[in-house]
Amino acid sequence: MYAINHAATALLIKKNSPKLPLFPLLISVQLVEVLWVFFNYLGWEHFSISGGRVHLDFLPYSHSVFSGVAAAVLSFCVINCGYKNRKLALAFAIGVLSHVMIDVIFHEKDIQLSPFSAKPAFGLGILDFPILNFIIEFVYGLFCWWYFKGSKALLWTITIFNFLDLPMMLAHGDSLNIFVHYPFILPTVILFQILITWYFVYRYAHSKNDKNSPVIGEI
Ligand SMILES: [Zn+2]
Repeated sequence: MYAINHAATALLIKKNSPKLPLFPLLISVQLVEVLWVFFNYLGWEHFSISGGRVHLDFLPYSHSVFSGVAAAVLSFCVINCGYKNRKLALAFAIGVLSHVMIDVIFHEKDIQLSPFSAKPAFGLGILDFPILNFIIEFVYGLFCWWYFKGSKALLWTITIFNFLDLPMMLAHGDSLNIFVHYPFILPTVILFQILITWYFVYRYAHSKNDKNSPVIGEI
């Protein structure tokens, strides 16, 4: 799943716990992806390109069921013990878990049960069908907005970023050569997407039109 719709998941959690600050929730739903970016920079994880498509291939440390659960438990302990905030700890842990659970639906069979063994690995492979991928992700993003009862600006944010993902979803063949020659570009593009969607979702989830959400100063 692309950055905007992972970020939209934070809206579901926020709606269920309106008193919790949104920004940590936005971090929680993308924690696993931020780890993926840095593990790629470090060479611990890698993607490949074959058959004219990007394959995420090797990401067992950031994106396995075991590491998702471990990151959720660790986050819970740090926030619960360090900040004495059990509600935020639980919401953050759910956000971390949501990432791997959602990615299992979209990824190819590359999400291992644990980093210690290549099998079993899970993934429904929706990423291999770009138009279907686009429709499901966009509908999911719209659902999160509707559930959250977000502002018009937030709806535009979700819509525009979903359409901006289309070229990446449809990219195939020679257009992917740049990622072969410069492997740091893909994680950098993803990192940029994470940061910019954090900014816009945070900003517009707090717009004046949105009576369900506290304004920034109230958090
Ligand atoms: Zn992911």
